[in-house]
Amino acid sequence: MTAELSGRVAGSGVPSPWAIVCDFDGTAIMGDIADALALRYLGPTQFDFVNTQFRRGDITFRELLHKLFEPITATPLEIRVSAQELAEFRPGFVRLVELSRERNIPFTLASGGLDIYITPALELLSASQRAWMTVRANHAVHRDGGLDLSFPYADQPGSCGACGSCKRAVITELQNNGYRVLAIGDGHADRCMADVADVLFARARLREWCDEERQPYIAFETLDVVADFLESNFAHARLQ
Ligand SMILES: [Mg+2]
Repeated sequence: MTAELSGRVAGSGVPSPWAIVCDFDGTAIMGDIADALALRYLGPTQFDFVNTQFRRGDITFRELLHKLFEPITATPLEIRVSAQELAEFRPGFVRLVELSRERNIPFTLASGGLDIYITPALELLSASQRAWMTVRANHAVHRDGGLDLSFPYADQPGSCGACGSCKRAVITELQNNGYRVLAIGDGHADRCMADVADVLFARARLREWCDEERQPYIAFETLDVVADFLESNFAHARLQ
């Protein structure tokens, strides 16, 4: 991996600054709150049916989100309690957020899921850690009989058109602002990051897909792997 040697600021000889784009479900946290909520309210049969439709290509990612989440009748308070019960941050996550804050590295939590459960989960972090993050996700509000979904970032430049809040658009925006982007993910929506990220950290289904597609990545199970990468990069920069 030669990422530390690439991405110079034009004419300066100085490496471009890093930015981090990190997925939420299955990456920042150990489990998947989206799946857990959908499973609880749809039941396993309907949950499996909808996911099979998506895997077969019968429905788009946004249609999957509608089918999974619109039937969730929980109140915002019930979702908040569930999200906080289910949110176990991945080892190394808090260290990575703190490192990014101390080093002035922009940290975007980018999710193809919904803000209605991500925001309360992040309340488990300190105020300074929360304040350091930018959250980019799809939007949901409670109504009688379910959730109303909307996709406020769907038309951002670089979006794939399928995710709603597409991580490719988040990365492109950061790169256009002069950053090298370190992307971290585990699932289907993270494929949109794979060929645009300057460095990709992958686990689980994303890792399997990268192997099949011969897409370069660094494997991780804890986010200490990412923090160590950044630390070694700072050490490398000091030696230049
Ligand atoms: Mg994920």
